[in-house]
This record gives sequence, C-alpha cells and structure tokens, in this order.
Amino acid sequence: MIAYIERFVHENDVDSSDYTGEVLSDLSDAGHDFGGIQFSKPLAVLRPSDASDVAKILRLAARSPHLTVAARGNGHSVNGQAMAHRGLVVDMKSLSCGIHVDAKGIYADVGGGALWEDVLRHCVVNHRLAPRSWTDYLGLTVGGTLSNAGVSGQAFAHGPQTENVTELEVVTGNGDVLVCSKRQNSELFFGTLGALGQFGIITRARVLLQPAPDMVRWIRVVYTEFRDFTRDAESLVTRPDGDTFDYVEGFVFVNSDDPVNGWPSVPLDRYGSFDPSRFSSSAGPVLYCLEVALHYKNEDSPSTVDTKVERLMGGLRGKEGMRFEAELGYMEFLLRVKRVEEEAKAKGIWGAPHPWLNLFVSKNNIGEFDHVVFKNILKHGVGGPMLLYPLLRSKWDSRKSVALPEGEIFYLVALLRFCSPYQDGLSVHQMVVQNQEILQSCTKNGIDYKLYLPHYNSVEGWKRHFGNQWTRFQERKARFDPMAILAPGQKIFSRNW
Ligand code: FAD
Repeated sequence: MIAYIERFVHENDVDSSDYTGEVLSDLSDAGHDFGGIQFSKPLAVLRPSDASDVAKILRLAARSPHLTVAARGNGHSVNGQAMAHRGLVVDMKSLSCGIHVDAKGIYADVGGGALWEDVLRHCVVNHRLAPRSWTDYLGLTVGGTLSNAGVSGQAFAHGPQTENVTELEVVTGNGDVLVCSKRQNSELFFGTLGALGQFGIITRARVLLQPAPDMVRWIRVVYTEFRDFTRDAESLVTRPDGDTFDYVEGFVFVNSDDPVNGWPSVPLDRYGSFDPSRFSSSAGPVLYCLEVALHYKNEDSPSTVDTKVERLMGGLRGKEGMRFEAELGYMEFLLRVKRVEEEAKAKGIWGAPHPWLNLFVSKNNIGEFDHVVFKNILKHGVGGPMLLYPLLRSKWDSRKSVALPEGEIFYLVALLRFCSPYQDGLSVHQMVVQNQEILQSCTKNGIDYKLYLPHYNSVEGWKRHFGNQWTRFQERKARFDPMAILAPGQKIFSRNW
C-alpha cells in the first residue's frame, strides 16, 4: 500500500500491500471545515474500502512516532475537530455504502460514513421505516453525529441519536476491529458514543427504526414572555408518551422587522405574515417561538388530526393570532434545512465562516441566561437561528461520554451564526469575541452549562468540561487509544501524552 505515506513515516518494514482503499492527492477539502475558522493541512487523505483498511491505517500510524489520524465525516465541525495537522485524514464517506434493514424492520446497519439524509431516503422509500432520533440538518454522517450526541426535536422523547443505536463496529486506536454493544465490549460501546472520536473510528452502526409516518403538521407559536415559553415547552416534553407532539423545539428571535433575525423568520411559508400589533409594544427586545410537529398517516382523517392537534395545543400560553402552520410530507419535514442550505448557497453565505456556539444550559439557570445573553448580549441576533429547547437528562445514559449540566431538564442553546456577505453585521472576529463574552458571562453569573460540540485549547478546559467524568475519559483513552493517535483536532490529548 501507500508507498506515498510510507515515504513520510519512514517505515520500511510495513507490509501494507493488502490495503484496498485509495490515497488522495487532493488535500484541500480535508484542510478546512464548515466553521471556516481553522485550517490545517494533512499529510494525506485516505479513502478506506472497509474496516480492515481503517485498522491498517491506524497500525501504520502507530509505527511512526508522531502520526495522528482523524476520521472526517462530512467535515461539518466548526472548530477543526475533524482535521489532523500533518497527519492522516480518513475520508469516512468511502464507508457510506451499504444500508441494510433487518428482516423484522427493527434496525438498520449503516456505514459510519453514511449521510443521515441517505439513511432517511433508503429506510422510508424501501421499507416505510425511519430512525427515531434526528439532527435538524441531515447532511451529516452517522459516525460524526454519534461522536457528539445528535439532537433535534425528537430527543426529548427518544434521547439523542447516541441512545438510538444498539451496536457499533469500531476500529480502536490500537488498530483492533471490534463489534460492541451494551453486552459485548460494553466499555467501548458506551465510551465511543459521544466520545468526540477519541477511542475509535465507527465503521458501522446499528440504528433503531420505527414505522415512518406519511405526513407532518408543523406548528409555530409566538411568546412575548420567556416564562410562558419555557413553561409550555417543559410541559410538552414531560407529558407521557402518546400525549404530546412528536417533535418539540423552539427559538429566540429579535423583536424587529430584521429579515434574518426578526419577525420574518417566524412564518412557515413565504406568504405567511407576522403581525406585531398582536402583542404589546412593551414586549422586550427578543421574542420566543415554540415549534412543534405531529406525525400522521395518509389514512388519518383531517378531523382526527385537527382534534389531536387542538387537544395537545390546549392550555398553551402562546400569543393569540400568532400561530403558523404547515402541512408537509415526513421526508420533506426532515429535509427542511436542505432548503435553507440551498438558499444560503445561492446567497453565498453557506461557504462563509460559521463561528457557532452550542451549549447545554441547566433549567435552573435558563432564566438568568435569557436575561444576560438573549436580552442583552444577543438582542440584535446572531445573523441566523438562535435555537432554544428543553431536553431530559433521564433519556441520556450516563455511561456514555457526553458531558451534561445538572438536573433533569436542560436546554439546548444553538447560536447558529451566519456571516453576512454585505459586511453589515459583526465580523467573524467580533463574533468569536462575542462567543467568549457569552461564556465569560455564564461563568460570572454561575450559570451551569456544558459546551455541546465542545472546543477547548487547553487540557484544563477539557478537565473542567468533563468534571467528574474526566478520570473515566482518560482511562478509556489509555485503554483504546493509548498512543493518542485519534482525532487530534479535538485538542484533548497529544501523542505520547
Ligand atoms: P465531522 O465534522 O467530519 O467530524 C466530527 C468529529 O467526529 C471529528 O472529531 C471526527 O474526527 C469525528 N468523527 C467523524 N466521523 C467519525 C467516525 N465514523 N468515527 C469516529 N469519529 C468520527 N448537531 C446536532 O446534534 N443537531 C443538529 O441539529 C445539528 N445541525 C447541524 C447543522 C449544520 C448545518 C451543521 C454544520 C452542523 C450541525 N450539527 C448538529 C453539528 C453536527 O452534528 C456535528 O458538527 C457533527 O460532528 C458533524 O458531522 P460530520 O459528519 O460532518 O462530522
């Protein structure tokens, strides 16, 4: 194999002739990511053809004193997490083929480099089945989201995507190809999910399925009061199964006619209009929108669906006359951000930098967060969505590697910044500085939070992030990737730490 790589690692005795994948000479893609802030040139990009090729790459790296290996899913990280400076990048999309649904329709075995949008299409079109837990945007790989958590409006009910897989095939940093589950190699199974790629490369995942609905009723309701918004959102996510919506999210928007950050971001279609005279002029600088969706089948009568929607909406405190609805196919609903992607590409802002900040904030401090961050620091918005919705800790298995704040209810806060091509908003640098200001304010105000899709430059930062899980995280690293070859772009461990 790869005489090309051997030249660099100065290994003369590597018998690599049975490597069946490709070595790419074009390194440009692997040197940047969706964030557009970090750049780092790898030594080589490899496209393995199976798990044993991945193992060969890792064993090859282990023979050199310094080589690192980063799995690259779809490169949608925002802080260089899938990069390997002068190391080897494994393009996981070469392991995307092969989505196999079992005969009973309980699960699908999918390649670690498969895009969720392809998993969706395959399962719905061929089997009328679908995974239970999603991300908002599906141009992400299975291995990439399972290395973080994978959350969207279904996570309150089913847990994140990491709770909806029952088996993984993982190539550890030692170069072992292992199948793991709750019962088999369980430490590797729990450890790998949410591990930021630190213990192994996921080459296959067994994803739980459920019957796919045909249609979705998608509804948005506006609130002027933060307390009303959070009370309703929390009430919906804590109701018993079957007595709530299939999807619950929310977002914060600016109380102005700003086309990106303000009222126009709320209606569900371009013809819907937002009438600000519906609420008092004393409303604050930001408003809140609860977003819910109900699944149904083609054979359900419209009146049955209406009745169920009205029952579930009953008692919610959203503003009268500030309700927006759309009816769409299930796949269209799940692929809704693809439309945003197409529009953003047309405007030239998809490829521009994205200094995003994602946090999990404890319910105990979310009021304070609203006051300090949304109503003050971000009162003019972030040039994109500011998502805010509650999740339940009991749906997250604490044996997995994700770090969460205290308490049963915590909120996902996603500040999805887009840079304007017209230079009329904050510069990238100013956005990064504002992110730091937000984190400093959280610390100063004693707000209990954890970064989601975390990013730290120092080991101290990582120790604080993992808190009392840090020792376990280190022990797992020592066991599965003792030479610290994997995912160097996360900057948690360095080779020979
Ligand atoms: P990459 O960025 O390529 O990799 C991420 C990390 O995982 C790297 O450290 C990499 O080395 C490692 N990795 C990649 N593949 C594997 C593998 N097979 N095995 C082991 N490690 C691996 N997240 C949510 O939870 N919910 C959302 O709704 C959501 N929406 C998003 C929308 C957009 C437009 C974008 C850009 C991101 C969104 N994310 C969301 C974040 C996303 O889940 C993460 O950035 C994820 O890591 C991206 O997946 P990827 O396949 O591009 O991974």
